[in-house]
Amino acid sequence: MSQTAPAISPLSAGLRCKCPSCGKGPLFIHALNMRERCSACGLDYKFVDTGDGPAIFAIFILGFLSMGVAMIAEFKFGVPWWVHVIILALVMPLIAVLLLRFLKATLIALQFKNKAEEGRLLRD
Ligand SMILES: [Zn+2]
Repeated sequence: MSQTAPAISPLSAGLRCKCPSCGKGPLFIHALNMRERCSACGLDYKFVDTGDGPAIFAIFILGFLSMGVAMIAEFKFGVPWWVHVIILALVMPLIAVLLLRFLKATLIALQFKNKAEEGRLLRD
C-alpha cells in the first residue's frame, strides 16, 4: 500500500460509504459489493481486507438491538405476534445491510489510514 495519507476522517468516509482517500468516489456497487477502484481518484481497492470484522460487529450490535426491541415491544407494550414478525423479519434485515455498509466502509477507511496490512519480511 503506497497511497498517501487520507485527508478525510475514517468515520466520515464510513458514514458516507465513500473512498477512504478522497472521500468522493463510492465504495460499493449496489449494497455490499466492492468496486475495483475509486472512480474519483483511482485508488486501487486491492489492499482492502476487512475479513469477518464488519460481520462480527454487526452480529453483536444487531443481536443486542433486536433482543432489546423485542423484549420492550413484548413486555412494555404487549404488542401482538405479527408486530414481532414485522420488526424482526422486515426491519432488522434492512438495518443489517445499512449497518454492514457503514461498518465495512469504516473498517476499510481505518485500514487505509493506519496502513494496516499483512506483515512481511523486509527484503532488498
Ligand atoms: Zn478516491
